[in-house]
Amino acid sequence: MINVSIGTAAVLGLTEIQMEAAPTTAYLMLGGRCALNCGFCAQARSSHAGALHLSRITWPQFDLDETISRLVAAVGRGDIKRACLQVTVSPGYFRRTLEVVRAIRAASAVPVDAAILPRNVHQVEQLLAAGVDHIGFGLDAACERVFRRVKGRDWDEALALVEATARQFPARSAVHLIVGLGETEEEMVRLMQQMHDLGVVVGLFAFTPVPGTAMESSSSPPLDVYRRMQTARYLIVHDLARAEQFTFREGRVSAFNVPRLRDVLADGVAFQTSGCPDCNRPFYNERPGGVMYNYPRPLTPVEARQAIVEMGLVL
Ligand code: SF4
Repeated sequence: MINVSIGTAAVLGLTEIQMEAAPTTAYLMLGGRCALNCGFCAQARSSHAGALHLSRITWPQFDLDETISRLVAAVGRGDIKRACLQVTVSPGYFRRTLEVVRAIRAASAVPVDAAILPRNVHQVEQLLAAGVDHIGFGLDAACERVFRRVKGRDWDEALALVEATARQFPARSAVHLIVGLGETEEEMVRLMQQMHDLGVVVGLFAFTPVPGTAMESSSSPPLDVYRRMQTARYLIVHDLARAEQFTFREGRVSAFNVPRLRDVLADGVAFQTSGCPDCNRPFYNERPGGVMYNYPRPLTPVEARQAIVEMGLVL
């Protein structure tokens, strides 16, 4: 059996739901309650959220072979372009991840990523040898202070593994960063630059309070902050600007100092979900009809203009 995100299950024809946007990556979850205790995570050790939850999404279980054969069909139709395993630290998680990656890769050439916590570079090597495209590191926090408070782990150790992987296996790493855990914008921007300089893909998410978690009473980040972080990420990963040229006032971006920034952002791509190619994670951070932190599809010209205004800077 394997847990399948509800949107993925709908695309694969395993269930029927109404969707405003369909995932273009198939998201599968492996493992049960996690041994780690991240304050925001529904699967954290002390979380009281249901076993079938991760962020805002439910993940019902389906037969693995059936899921893979439907995944192959969805790839053939062009509906799915990538698969990503979301792996919790639970008994046997590493061996099981290798098995599932190998099973998918035996059936299809679709790229497979794994959002997982490898113990060391040797495990990274095993995952890549099994056919993983990107290792998605859940660094989540933008700095040591927030990392220790929210994730309760050793920052230097976590960062060292990302750096070692990036250096030894170029273009095979991604990091997830969450805006709104208590970092400053400057801390987030500088880490994004550091990751990009290492060749690491940066996927940006907005903190989402989930009932039953330690951070259930905290708030999602203000939209202007998130729009500025999306803009900073876009400029940095496309080598249109570097963090050092931005102006910060009391930790916030007060100017990007990029000529014709409105034109640069006009296509709205900066405000779409970021990360590995074709990873659009519909409604992972958003409620249908609510604030659209990450757009899972191209923005309309009106939405793009609105997103630029929401940044709250005079351009
Ligand atoms: S960016 Fe998307 S596809 Fe890549 S590891 Fe993260 S969740 Fe998976």
